[in-house]
Amino acid sequence: MSAPRLEIDLGRLQHNAITLVRRLARQGISVSGVSKAVLGLPEIVHLWLAAGVSSIGDSRLETIEAMAHAGITAPLLLIRTPMLSQVERVVAHAATSCNSEPVVIKALAAAALRQRRRHGVLLMVELGDLREGILPPDLTAIAELTLGLPSLRLVGIGSNLGCQHGVAADADNMGELSALANALEARFGISLELISGGNSANLPWLEQGGAPGRINHLRLGEALLLGREPLGRTAIPGLHTDAFKLVGELIEVKTKPTRPWGRQGLTSFSDESPRQPSLREDRGLRQRGLLALGLQDVDPAGLEPPPGVSIVGASSDHLVVEADHPLSVGEELSFSPNYSALLRAMTSLFVERLCIDGEAKAPRGAAASTAQAPRPGSQPGTTLEGDSERALVATTS
Ligand SMILES: *Cc1c(COP(=O)(O)O)cnc(C)c1O
Repeated sequence: MSAPRLEIDLGRLQHNAITLVRRLARQGISVSGVSKAVLGLPEIVHLWLAAGVSSIGDSRLETIEAMAHAGITAPLLLIRTPMLSQVERVVAHAATSCNSEPVVIKALAAAALRQRRRHGVLLMVELGDLREGILPPDLTAIAELTLGLPSLRLVGIGSNLGCQHGVAADADNMGELSALANALEARFGISLELISGGNSANLPWLEQGGAPGRINHLRLGEALLLGREPLGRTAIPGLHTDAFKLVGELIEVKTKPTRPWGRQGLTSFSDESPRQPSLREDRGLRQRGLLALGLQDVDPAGLEPPPGVSIVGASSDHLVVEADHPLSVGEELSFSPNYSALLRAMTSLFVERLCIDGEAKAPRGAAASTAQAPRPGSQPGTTLEGDSERALVATTS
């Protein structure tokens, strides 16, 4: 088995999906599974759909296309405002896209007309996190524009909080979204299908008894995958937080001084490493392990080491650890990735994926299948072909 590898416990992911979908359904809220951190991995998308998510959302058109080519027939939602240069492809593969720009909406309408399709538009509203979204006073005019374009369907309105400035969902901003939905429906005599309140960062508000009002849809990634809400990184009750493990292999184990010697400048990653000031102290001789795992594979700041092990530094290809127990060359260490580390590991060409089913208590690796994630950006129509090695060859040749 090769390292580094990401071990993906499908049983735990299935449990998370079933639990969240059921819990939110009791509040009248449907769920789009957001697959961007796992690049639309078919194994995960299929289990989400079986668990009852209503659609699959992704921010990357390439991943949407790869999912369509992989035979996923569920509605695909592009959760990032389309690039003007990609509207034809968006209309061809995504049932609906999130939008905030009139020029893009008009271009989508023209593309949909050319392709004889009807494309869904979810209008994103800015509610304070200052990433994407139409400012509330401008919403009516843009809704009117959308309604006037027969090749488009105004599916609903939505908002995104938490991702840029960590703004939390609360009674004020969610109440404003509900009020905007009511106002649009009254003004135009329409009924909006989706009032999409936000992402995993909305869950604490609901758990604390927030009234959903008109909110009937959430787009969830981190909660489904890692069982956590992003704002406080707290575990969501009843969910698995350990469905993913990143496994690295030790390539050097030596007892070395804890302080470098020689004149020091910056490093390639300029951020002074080791980061923790205490690690700059002279702590005498320590056992240091070097893993074949680095910034080209993962965001090391997002890794939680196993018990008794601490991370003291990282560069492109090496992760340096200290341990309070003996390490040996060839030994593997398992780390828990946060969202950032997971995203980077899934995107790296060097990290193998291994799907296991922990619920079924299959011995590790025995019932395993090597996951073939869509590799966005390769040849159109063949985006699902090739393992990481072949993909690597393709990009370096
Ligand atoms: C990433 C993203 C999501 C999912 O966010 P999580 O915090 O992973 O649930 C939802 N909506 C949009 C627009 C996103 O970009």
